[in-house]
Amino acid sequence: MLLLALDNPGKPVNYKLELDIDPESSDFSGSVDITFHIEKGTIFNEVKLHAGDLSIVSASITNENSTYEAKLDVSYDTTQQLAIFRNHGGNTLSLTECQIYRLKLGYTGKINDIASPGDKTVGVFKARHPDNKGYIIATHCQPSFARLIYPCVDEPSVKTTFELSIISSATMKAVSAASIDVIEDIGSGKVKTIFRKTPLLTTSLFGFTLGAFDTIKIEIPITQIVEGNEEQQFFPVIMNSPMNVSLTSFAIETVKTYLPILVKYFNNFIPYLEKLDFVLLPYLNDMVMENFGMITAHMNLLLLADDKNVALKKQMVQIIVHELVHQWVGNFISFDSWESLSFNESFATWLSYYLISENEEDYFTSNDYVYGEIQPAMVHDSGLNSQSIRDSYYSIMKQLDGKGSGTTRELFNPYSYFKGVSVLRSLQLTTGESLLQKALAHLFTTENIPRFHNMSIKPIDIFNEVGAMLKSENIANYFSSWNRLPGLPILSVTATEDEKTKLVQHRFFSKECGEVNETDFEDVPYHIPLFTLLPDGKNDTKHVLLTDRSLKLDYRILLCNNDAQGYYYVSYESDSLYAGICQGLQNKTISSFNLSKIVEDLSNFIGNLNHQLPIHFTGFFKILNSFISSFESIDEMVKSNYSIPFLKCLAVLETLEVAVYKSKRTELRDQIHKFGTKMFKSFIINKIDLREVPSDQTTIVSKIIRLTRKNQKTINICEPIYKSLLKNVSSTNKFPVDLLESVLIVMTTTQVKTVKQWKEHMRLLKDSHSMKAAFFSSLGYVSTEELVTKLLNFIDSDIKDVNDVTLSLISLCHYNETRNVNNLIWKWFTSSYKQWANKLHDAQSFSQIFTIVLSAFINDAKWSSEVAEQFKDITAVDITTLLDSWTLEQQAGATILNQIAF
Ligand SMILES: [Zn+2]
Repeated sequence: MLLLALDNPGKPVNYKLELDIDPESSDFSGSVDITFHIEKGTIFNEVKLHAGDLSIVSASITNENSTYEAKLDVSYDTTQQLAIFRNHGGNTLSLTECQIYRLKLGYTGKINDIASPGDKTVGVFKARHPDNKGYIIATHCQPSFARLIYPCVDEPSVKTTFELSIISSATMKAVSAASIDVIEDIGSGKVKTIFRKTPLLTTSLFGFTLGAFDTIKIEIPITQIVEGNEEQQFFPVIMNSPMNVSLTSFAIETVKTYLPILVKYFNNFIPYLEKLDFVLLPYLNDMVMENFGMITAHMNLLLLADDKNVALKKQMVQIIVHELVHQWVGNFISFDSWESLSFNESFATWLSYYLISENEEDYFTSNDYVYGEIQPAMVHDSGLNSQSIRDSYYSIMKQLDGKGSGTTRELFNPYSYFKGVSVLRSLQLTTGESLLQKALAHLFTTENIPRFHNMSIKPIDIFNEVGAMLKSENIANYFSSWNRLPGLPILSVTATEDEKTKLVQHRFFSKECGEVNETDFEDVPYHIPLFTLLPDGKNDTKHVLLTDRSLKLDYRILLCNNDAQGYYYVSYESDSLYAGICQGLQNKTISSFNLSKIVEDLSNFIGNLNHQLPIHFTGFFKILNSFISSFESIDEMVKSNYSIPFLKCLAVLETLEVAVYKSKRTELRDQIHKFGTKMFKSFIINKIDLREVPSDQTTIVSKIIRLTRKNQKTINICEPIYKSLLKNVSSTNKFPVDLLESVLIVMTTTQVKTVKQWKEHMRLLKDSHSMKAAFFSSLGYVSTEELVTKLLNFIDSDIKDVNDVTLSLISLCHYNETRNVNNLIWKWFTSSYKQWANKLHDAQSFSQIFTIVLSAFINDAKWSSEVAEQFKDITAVDITTLLDSWTLEQQAGATILNQIAF
């Protein structure tokens, strides 16, 4: 990786850059005059600069006023992307009397021609104008592509000013970080655009664009407090688009709304920023880039043709506010290493979510945030190979080593990023929103410019400062602990007999880890923000953070991790805690969102060798029973907004059902089905017409139907649909597909017993493609050995798509009721696996099928050694991994059943 600090005499402080760009050419020429600061008396004999694909044509060194000038020789280190300058003749550079020296270089560079989205938009690149007005030229420097544009010290630890001028065609408008000072006509249809000097920037944040843009310029009124007085000024924002600039009106409105909000948040305008351009480009690999004063974005992201597209608008607001935040944090304050890239991104996203939540609707308590963004990171962090935010950066660097400099995408770790957002959100809630805001605003005051703007910083510098402001050492410790520790915590909550509560934390491991040997892993306590709700529904303000292994509260609580705002799971381990939760459900004092998270967390413990406890089962069934008794109908449940936690309960019940089937323990199976019947009785009127189920209830109804697939009453409501389907496939055209799947499952389970019925059932496949997936999912429910054999033959000879095979096999392997069927599956697979391996070509598809087949034998330990023997010679698949996962699942299945209690 090429991001190590260059060992140079002195540091660059200014780049004076002049570029001559002819869009028709594949090269450009440039000259750069770099000012270095050096300690007086330093003797040196070489200067190294980053230069990628640049040819130096002239090089000299001068003192500050150019009264002394010496020619330099240049050599290149292409693997390190360096140009090395030495005094002509090999003498020591004799500038010992100076504190400033300048390098004056002439060079040529490459313009990348971009014609498709796969081409790399780095350095200087050009693409055809979408309206055929010549070319659009743009730059992209992050993380280390400035070196493709001019020789420089291309490192985030160095901040300098820039003075740019560009010579190009008069038909092209030039835009850059700074505003334009003057445009000179230099004849032959060319102009020289001279920009003003920028404030201090890193090389990665500098850039320019050229092209025939349509523009809209607005002046946004900004109010800020200067020495106690409100001052208003107008700030120019310019939208530049190669086409349809009028379609940026929503983007403009968003900037208009949020720029003043940000100024208010930081109590300061983006210092030194004179204007802000948005430049829309036909191609940009990174989609958006926050260059100082000139945000570049892929056209598709900011042009809104359909004003009714809510999802697109939401995304656009998030992007714009995120990029605006960067102008303060990321640009004005910038970080000294790419290690902080994920923090930089987390910060911009966290703050944009917060400001959007304050101005529109709360995003932090949305399913998109908790389950779409944070939960995947938690799942990742519950694996054995989870790395801390810090370490995952160094592994990425190690992987990139030797492959040249990485792109921002390659350096970026989405898990670290979302974890970072969550950690910042927790910090904000723990310290208090307005206190944190005041402390952050403090970073932008004039007195802090030398420490926070004049040099690149580390994220911890921010937290040390914020901690000092708020007089809390915990803040810096909190941040560095989450940055340093891998994994995520599980917080166990126990109610003690003396009306007290005990909290204990450990590192959490997922089901997929199998049984973890505790001595193999460090179990360092995390900084857990507790977000405790007391039984009266109020927040606990007495204890807000757990930093030790355990903590005893001398009072009862209702729940921890209110609104799922903390990065951890909570395991409730006392009956009285579940009683409190159920009470809350009964009188609706516990929110649906909190209940969802409780059930979601339970689903991570059930079947988990490291964390499952009998109390999780009793607790789960208490909650399920409480649902059944708290609502008269599904309609009532949906209307009062509790359907999501209930659906999560049904998903847990399905997991249990599969485990129970695999055990071939009929008494447990009957217990599960009893729950189904109970729900059916409570929620589904016996004579319900499935065609009239409202769309927001079909998922719940279909899950209950599936669970009660053998009940006569269920068959009664499904039969009319199935009959009309057999008569005419298109009769169910408007029927919801999840309900249809359940109907087919009920009928396959109970009504497809003979070869004649099988043939009739199979006819549905020929006639309808719209319900193909539903149809395949139902096939595995056939139960006679004759039909199982028919199904397996059918899979062998007729199904080509691996997903259809998976759908047909999965229920067969999960829900078959006899050992004989297991034997059939095994016989079928062992005689045809080679054919499958050949047919599928890729190991992943094969292992998908193999894993499902193995899952049928979850409690059959004796198969393990036989399998290992049988599959020794398959090279296409990593058999050891598969077998490992099988053994683990097998144990997990056994554990579920040992502790199950109804
Ligand atoms: Zn960003």
